[in-house]
Amino acid sequence: MTNHKSKKQLQLDDLHNLYQACTACPLGTMGRQRIVFGSGNPDAKLMLIGEAPGREEDEQGEPFVGRSGKLLTTALANAGIDRSEIFITNIVKCRPPNNRMPKPTETFTCKKLLLFNQISIIQPHIIVPVGACALKSFINIEQQKLKLSQLHGQPFQSNNILVVPFYHPAYILRNRSKMSDFLSDINNLKLLYQKSL
Ligand code: SF4
Repeated sequence: MTNHKSKKQLQLDDLHNLYQACTACPLGTMGRQRIVFGSGNPDAKLMLIGEAPGREEDEQGEPFVGRSGKLLTTALANAGIDRSEIFITNIVKCRPPNNRMPKPTETFTCKKLLLFNQISIIQPHIIVPVGACALKSFINIEQQKLKLSQLHGQPFQSNNILVVPFYHPAYILRNRSKMSDFLSDINNLKLLYQKSL
């Protein structure tokens, strides 16, 4: 049987191939095993964007497969959103050493080369930035003196895309008292997602 890839999948494959060995920012030469491009449905209406690959993601080449990623994707699946129907990626595609935060020059470069192209190919209706680092790509929280604790679960528009900020699941694992907020945000997202289909 012939496997016909969609136009969007072919465009994503081309983008991935182009940057397989990328060293455009310092993270390309700091011990990463591979770039973690992202995976999922090229026609996704919902994109999940985390901060950066961790150890397990770097080993497997897949985003959100470590402990915190599993918490998020399992909670989404329990709400009826399977990871196969969405697209998941990170702001930077290479693992920062010792899981440090990506630096502004790294996020700027990687977004310009990869993330913004991924968004323009997939054209999602909803983007969920996971954690403050990802959220900063869509709203200047520092200049507006805003915190993720005020913004999580609150949708806003950015370039005709609905952006729904989430706490990072690693933060939820460290702060179990926030679990009910996290699950409530997922339930609200489910309603928004169903409306967007
Ligand atoms: S983090 Fe992004 S820009 Fe930097 S080397 Fe990796 S793929 Fe290239």
